[in-house]
Amino acid sequence: MRRTSPVRSQVLVCRDEVRRTGCPLHGFLTNHYTRAGASAGGSLLGPWVAGGAAALLGFRNPGPLCYIRFPGGFLRKTMRRHDRCQLAPYAMPVEKSQGRRYPEPPHPYRNDYERDRDRIVHARAFRRLENKTQVFTRRYSDHFRNRLTHTLEVAQISRTVAKALGLNTDLVEALALVHDVGHPPGGHSGESELDRLMRQHHDVFDHNLHALRIVEFFEQKYAEFPGLNLTFEVREGIIKHSRDYLPAAHPELREYRLDERPPLEAQLIDVADEIAYNCADLDDGYEAKLLTLSAIRESLPLFDRIYRAMEMKYPAAKEKLKFNEALKRLMDKLVTDLIESTRRRLGEREIHSLHQVRACRTRLVALGRQTTEENKTMKAFLYARLYSHQNVNAERKRLIGCIRSLFAYYLKHPRSLPAFYFDQSQHEPVHRIVCDYIAGMTDHYLLEQHGKLLGGER
Ligand code: MG
Repeated sequence: MRRTSPVRSQVLVCRDEVRRTGCPLHGFLTNHYTRAGASAGGSLLGPWVAGGAAALLGFRNPGPLCYIRFPGGFLRKTMRRHDRCQLAPYAMPVEKSQGRRYPEPPHPYRNDYERDRDRIVHARAFRRLENKTQVFTRRYSDHFRNRLTHTLEVAQISRTVAKALGLNTDLVEALALVHDVGHPPGGHSGESELDRLMRQHHDVFDHNLHALRIVEFFEQKYAEFPGLNLTFEVREGIIKHSRDYLPAAHPELREYRLDERPPLEAQLIDVADEIAYNCADLDDGYEAKLLTLSAIRESLPLFDRIYRAMEMKYPAAKEKLKFNEALKRLMDKLVTDLIESTRRRLGEREIHSLHQVRACRTRLVALGRQTTEENKTMKAFLYARLYSHQNVNAERKRLIGCIRSLFAYYLKHPRSLPAFYFDQSQHEPVHRIVCDYIAGMTDHYLLEQHGKLLGGER
């Protein structure tokens, strides 16, 4: 990405200001004085001169003098300018957000995507991720990832990729933190089981659509509106980050432009998610002694190449430390490939705007061809050797059994649902409300409810 000097950035910001204020004289002065200040005293002085001139002439002032006179606006304006200067032309600027379902006044120190991120962090559904299975249940060990720690790892990777590509890191962080809130207890098997149960009622369960229901309705925190009232782009990213939905099959999602690709900020979440869980599952599987180093090296040539280099570099180090060093480099290689392949793809297809991103027939954020193949090998290995391991399966089957029994129980006894859900069942089919309630449970709460209502083991 081409670097922009501070003075040049200032000029660009001023031009944007002109477009918004419609005052050409203002633009001329700020441009002129910015350049004059730069030639007289370096890059810092330019904006000061421009700001002073504009303030004296009574124009809306984008320069630092204004910030001294009005310190309340200093941080906000500086942050906005910083954000805008960093963004690539194909990024999603917060100023162009389609906004919230229920309009709210702006916050003095946080932009709308930062507020969305913070609303997600403070949501109950976010806190429940701590007690939801990623691969290993809590009974197995306290050291392994759960959905909350996995989510934080996805956020870390996503931020790195977004920053390198000039994307909106605030939007990316909000999307990464919310991307798994719709997952039911019992990991992917729990999701498959709920979907199977719903299909018996000619309905489906989809964790992305469930996440949308959570942030739109089930989170009850505000007196003025239901849900979290997130911006359009965060709601759109929740449903579109990992898959496309056919417009004909989902007329209720019409507002989310199902025939368009989501912004790059949403597209990257799915790949960051995959990198995060592949590396984490190798780590946890090795730590749990369900995967051996020799099995990993034999099955994954990419990991083996990196591990050989670590053996050369740290011949005296313990195996676990060499494994850690190799795994760290594996993740770095995948993330670097994601950044460079995406950047190359954007260049080859001459993508210069968000409009082009949305109109593109395929997703633009993806690994390169060779790394995609290596990543597929890694996924196949983890499915064959870890996800279907009998120790992992035993816990999973137990949770699936509880989901199945509780689903049948609540369907038969809807008055056993909490009042909020029972009231809702008067307006929507009972199977949908039972599904919503079970999907929101943590693994721990599922076992507890099962024990309480059906006398199962807790
Ligand atoms: Mg995930």
